[in-house]
Amino acid sequence: MATQSKAQFLNDVHTLLKKRYKVKPESDATRLSVLEAVIYGICHQGTTREQANQALSRFKDEFFDWNEVRVSTVEEIQSALAGFPNPEERAQQIRRFLRQLFERTYGFTLDALVKKPLKESLKVLSEYEAFQSDYVTATVIQLALGGHAIPVDELTQRALQRLGVADADGDVAALRGVLERAVPKNRGLEFCDLLEELTHDTCVAGEPICPRCELKKVCPTARNRKDETSNTKAPKVEAKVETMAPKGTQVKAKPTQAEPQKPTKAAKTPAPPANPAKKGKPKGPK
Ligand code: SF4
Repeated sequence: MATQSKAQFLNDVHTLLKKRYKVKPESDATRLSVLEAVIYGICHQGTTREQANQALSRFKDEFFDWNEVRVSTVEEIQSALAGFPNPEERAQQIRRFLRQLFERTYGFTLDALVKKPLKESLKVLSEYEAFQSDYVTATVIQLALGGHAIPVDELTQRALQRLGVADADGDVAALRGVLERAVPKNRGLEFCDLLEELTHDTCVAGEPICPRCELKKVCPTARNRKDETSNTKAPKVEAKVETMAPKGTQVKAKPTQAEPQKPTKAAKTPAPPANPAKKGKPKGPK
């Protein structure tokens, strides 16, 4: 798909998804501190924004401050991530980030970066291990640094592959570039939210639920699956004969091989025993 047609296609996808899903208006106003955006990004990858928001609230409510999170055990941090996939891995990422941040700044804020040019801020942030994740980087750009970024996690990538936008090679950074060129900044957050709805509603893992997807008419995967289904349906010859027969005519369907044949008279007669000598005396008349 050429870049221009990808942009048009993604615009159509956006419009169709907007018809189906109601995106909360506050998503336009979401703005987090850099630190919060890092934690949010770690929590949001492969989950929903409600889950990520809940986790962020739990860290704020259940821990005294970010320093307490830093000195907590992985199990304690995991308690704020109940119901998340890979909670231990996420807890470790969060703690590592807070430790690195404290070692470098003796504090828990990175908000001075908001005033710097984006490139400069990203250079500083790239020294933190958490920023090895393209998803976390894009989340921080989008929600804290005021730049244009569209975070792509595995679920979004899967949906975009099915839609023919993402290449099969799985290059997330390249895919993000395509999306960011095609979707304008002022629609970026809404686009992300709509895609998230799609990946948790119909474009799910395993078998996507294409028949009730708003994108089924524009999605190549849905079209292929439909073609495959109609190709695997074997034509029913007998049924055709019956339909074509004039009204009132009874057409007997030809028995198939699997169908049991009606026994003939000969078949009804019991076969003689293989070795009559072995049989007992035949019963005489009484
Ligand atoms: S039509 Fe099917 S494969 Fe395509 S986006 Fe919708 S659910 Fe996913």
